[in-house]
Amino acid sequence: MLPGLRARGLPFFLLLSIAGCDVSLPGMLVGESAHFRLFLDPALDPQTAAYWESHDGLAALETDFADKRTMLKTPDGQKIDYHLMTPTDIGAACGFPEFDQDDLESGCAVNDQHAIAAAYIPHQHELMHAYLRLLLPDALPIPFLVEGIAQSLGCHTEAGTSLNGVVAWEQATTEDADDQAQDVYSQGGLFARYLIRTQGIDAYLRYYAQAPSRRDPALFAANFSAFWSMNIDDVWTAMHTVAAGAATTDGSICPCSLATLPTDGQLVTNDLLSQPYWTLPNTYGSSIALTTPSAEDFILDDCEGVAPEIFSISPGVSPGATIYADGNVTLAEVPDARPRYAVAPISRASVGHYLADDCATADAYPLPADFFNAPGSVFVIANQLTTVPFNKFIQLVLPYATQVAGPGSAGICDSCSFEPSVACTPPMPLSVGFGQPVAAGPLNAEFVLQGLPAGIEPPGPEDNFLQFLNTGPQ
Ligand SMILES: [Zn+2]
Repeated sequence: MLPGLRARGLPFFLLLSIAGCDVSLPGMLVGESAHFRLFLDPALDPQTAAYWESHDGLAALETDFADKRTMLKTPDGQKIDYHLMTPTDIGAACGFPEFDQDDLESGCAVNDQHAIAAAYIPHQHELMHAYLRLLLPDALPIPFLVEGIAQSLGCHTEAGTSLNGVVAWEQATTEDADDQAQDVYSQGGLFARYLIRTQGIDAYLRYYAQAPSRRDPALFAANFSAFWSMNIDDVWTAMHTVAAGAATTDGSICPCSLATLPTDGQLVTNDLLSQPYWTLPNTYGSSIALTTPSAEDFILDDCEGVAPEIFSISPGVSPGATIYADGNVTLAEVPDARPRYAVAPISRASVGHYLADDCATADAYPLPADFFNAPGSVFVIANQLTTVPFNKFIQLVLPYATQVAGPGSAGICDSCSFEPSVACTPPMPLSVGFGQPVAAGPLNAEFVLQGLPAGIEPPGPEDNFLQFLNTGPQ
């Protein structure tokens, strides 16, 4: 992970927006762009400071501005002062009573949201506060709405909310941003995202602009009904209902305005600062093959933040080991036509009928030669929203001989004659043992996938992969 970039899976907390009072944030101005001034805290460790001095943090901030602007229609205005700081200094500057010096997620927007304190670039939640200030400088709604909209738009954030949480709207709408329960973030975020998805961002911003600033449930409900011609109790129930094909925890809404991932199978150039994600083309019912560098996970997210994340887990590499562009391969069947995006970096992509219900009709996928430089995995991800187990077949083409291992469900063969296994050359067990030698040429694999009822999160790809024990071209 690059220093200063966001760590995945950390809990968010203390993402305060402090309005009205002037707060002095430490840092030296190191650059300026159309919408930002970037400051580096002198207390940053030399590695992080050197990284951001040699990389264009302003480019990452302008990418975020341009992407979110496609939905918010943010105007130009006073530049946003972005202070990259240590968590310790963030805790002190933002007035957090307790802080964890390892918590990279804490941050605040201060000085009427024109200045941001954050431990990485870009902190999408705090930036949303600044954008809202540029867009609606006179709006002063309750914390439930202020923190909710900051949690609404974001690409691959951890801002999602469990739909199973039982919190009364009367409670969430009267909490402050620093209340222990943090319902203003979780329930406020879900509330904003639900209304943006169902009513549109423009209507939601009009609602936000006129919402009352007093934390009073009766006033909130009356204003809600008057604006939307809907009852808050009905909407609260609807936004906590898990729809067919939806995840039980929703996700932030990503504009998906960045460039579309090329699917010509050629090596992709990744610049994480200007291209933190790739918008996925419509695969029209086909599957997509993606390679990711060694130690990088493959992650496909729903732009609307409704459907479950599709992902694989890289086995990782030893510290100091060489990173190969085509470290791992994922063959994924996208379950529906929802627009999706792939978290960068992606090394190579192509679209084809790679996952098939019978072996003979699968499109052959030639494994890239670079994949054979180090041990790597081929993951198979299919839509498991069925009631019964089902089989999927893939056809790989290997440029080199190697050894293959796999967990329970996978079987391999050099032809489509899996049964009886003696028809394979050499005879291969239906269940792949450890280190099965395989020759260069075609290698077919069969996977048995479990069916999952609606509302159950997919289990992840742990059981559906082949591990290649590559030791380099042979
Ligand atoms: Zn906030």
